[in-house]
Amino acid sequence: MRFTSYNSTMSFTWTPHRFVGGALAFDIANSVILRHLPERRLDRLADPANLAALPQAASAHSAERASFGVLHPLSPQDAPQLLALREAIDRYFRARAEGREDDRLLADLLEEIAGAIRRDPAKGDLIASTARSALMLISSPAADRTKVCGHCGWLFIDRSKNRSRLWCDMAICGNREKASRHYAARRGKPAGDDTEEKP
Ligand SMILES: [Zn+2]
Repeated sequence: MRFTSYNSTMSFTWTPHRFVGGALAFDIANSVILRHLPERRLDRLADPANLAALPQAASAHSAERASFGVLHPLSPQDAPQLLALREAIDRYFRARAEGREDDRLLADLLEEIAGAIRRDPAKGDLIASTARSALMLISSPAADRTKVCGHCGWLFIDRSKNRSRLWCDMAICGNREKASRHYAARRGKPAGDDTEEKP
């Protein structure tokens, strides 16, 4: 029987927008939307269908795709390791972006990275590739360009010359934020409470 009700999960696809992080490690961290708003936080990997489709989408859209090539499908049993790595990546780099570099968070991340890189076969494995991405990023100058999108809370690398980017994606989050401020001004309410789910 077909499940006919509509919800956000059913219409979800891994569009190129979802890989704007600039590094695979950030694309994976960004599978959670609105981390900073617990009541609206949305974890795309909570749906096994999204987890299953992720490696192929990352192979097609991640900025680092040339370095890891075609990624194999994951099994549902891989989810806990991927989620643990994802959360360690997010905690460390988000703190660093906010000027709170923390050696304990770094140590936690390195432990997750070590476990992920030992996966066999590591080649073509999304989890091992994500770990390598995070490892490279830790000591890369690009990490000092890490920012948190002012609209959706995603992590991204700001490669602009004057480091002036505010949004992960101007076409989506920049415009949403502008619209939010516009409507808030008309209603006389503060901006920021109109954060919609992304397309
Ligand atoms: Zn954004």
